[in-house]
Amino acid sequence: MVVGGGIAGLVAARGLAAAGRDVLLLEGSPQVGGKLRSAEVAGLTVDVGAEAMLARRPEGLALAEEVGAEVVHPTSAASAVWSRGALRTMPRSLMGVPLDLDQLAASGVLSPEGLLRARHEVDTPVGDDVSVGELVAGRLGDELVDRLVEPLLGGVYAGHARAISAAAAVPQLLAMARRGSLLEQVAGLPLSTAPVFASLPGGMGRLPGLVVDGGGFEVRTAATVRALRRTPGGWAVTVGPTTHPETVEAGSVVLATPSVPAARLLADEVPDAAGELAAIDTASVAVVTLAFRTRDVPGGLLDRSGFLVPPVEQRTIKASTFSFAKWAWVRELDPDVVVLRTSLGRHGEETTLQAADDGLVRVSLTDLAAMAGITARPVDTHVQRWGGGLPQYAVGHLDRVARIRAAVATRPGLAVCGAAYDGVGIPAVIGSARRAVASVTRAE
Ligand SMILES: Cc1cc2nc3c(=O)[nH]c(=O)nc-3n(C[C@H](O)[C@H](O)[C@H](O)COP(=O)(O)OP(=O)(O)OC[C@H]3O[C@@H](n4cnc5c(N)ncnc54)[C@H](O)[C@@H]3O)c2cc1C
Repeated sequence: MVVGGGIAGLVAARGLAAAGRDVLLLEGSPQVGGKLRSAEVAGLTVDVGAEAMLARRPEGLALAEEVGAEVVHPTSAASAVWSRGALRTMPRSLMGVPLDLDQLAASGVLSPEGLLRARHEVDTPVGDDVSVGELVAGRLGDELVDRLVEPLLGGVYAGHARAISAAAAVPQLLAMARRGSLLEQVAGLPLSTAPVFASLPGGMGRLPGLVVDGGGFEVRTAATVRALRRTPGGWAVTVGPTTHPETVEAGSVVLATPSVPAARLLADEVPDAAGELAAIDTASVAVVTLAFRTRDVPGGLLDRSGFLVPPVEQRTIKASTFSFAKWAWVRELDPDVVVLRTSLGRHGEETTLQAADDGLVRVSLTDLAAMAGITARPVDTHVQRWGGGLPQYAVGHLDRVARIRAAVATRPGLAVCGAAYDGVGIPAVIGSARRAVASVTRAE
């Protein structure tokens, strides 16, 4: 049995079915997919959750191939960062550590003082784990962290550079820091022309359905699991409303929910793991999708795939993706309509999201006007909230995950997977599901 029908649960269910199991997947909401979700905006179906997957890791592309999906890559439109009063082309970097200091200088992202500090790396000692912000600020200065590392990390985790674990989020940088100069080693990285990201034509929201089709497992939606307990033969879960509880039994259970429900479900049977899961904080975010008439939007914007906004700039949105410029498939949906999205919400800044939907649209439009010169009225809008949507990998996260897995491993036929463990990106989440399948099938 699998609990949770996000991409982790779907991949786990498919893997267990491929291993010859009878699999039932229980999903609490009316549809599978979790953060991979599409919606209609101005009659066009676009992603309102995750919109790309890393193509430099194998798991996402391998899954697409397994389910027979074509993949597409972003156009050559360049990403940007709003810094010091202008949109600046994003300099090439490894999570903010510049590959080329002259390119960083030319971008104008940093002030002359910030740039001078970044040019003079300080050799600071590195322990087992440290926040990404602390690691990079000690070496290259606070301004580089505030204006480059922060927005890049904020885009992935909706978190803060000075809280997120370097060991979990940027192990490559941490390893480099242990060996010597970050600048020298990053500058020496081989240049790759391979695309960094991929999606499916029609969006990442199509992937869940493809994983279900022909996956050989049964899905029940609107089936929230409320309790989990061991039985002599394996495991039993309680599903459904409190007025009509139903017990479903299985030999093994893969728990593929976010950390908060996982903590609740494990509280009785694996309290140590539950305690550790409950200690993982989450950030709430919202994605606002806006559709405009093509003729109302400045033509030059086609050159940009979007932009990130550092918190130090004190705007409300933290990023905007110009979906129409980034993805050919979006532009081809309707040449007369352009679709773009903004994202809002960082860890600890829930007040931003307390506005009603039209308030989030309004602040998005205000920021887009100020930063991208888009002053048109949208023809349609869509607001998708993701409450507690992104787990925060605090310093020490890897040790915490090791403790969770060790505690869960003491209960035969039980495994956990999902965004709370080995990375929040889709390929990492798929990897965690494959690992969960291996652990329950190996145990028997
Ligand atoms: C706005 C946003 C944009 C993102 N963009 C990207 C991106 O572009 N690229 C990328 O790689 N990653 C992105 N991510 C991260 C990535 O999408 C997620 O980390 C990943 O999809 C999580 O998958 P999951 O299966 O672990 O969890 P989820 O997708 O959260 O799925 C968990 C499922 O469990 C269900 N559930 C919860 N409790 C219960 C219960 N008690 N019983 C039954 N079911 C339950 C939920 O309803 C949900 O369907 C983004 C995340 C967000 C929020």
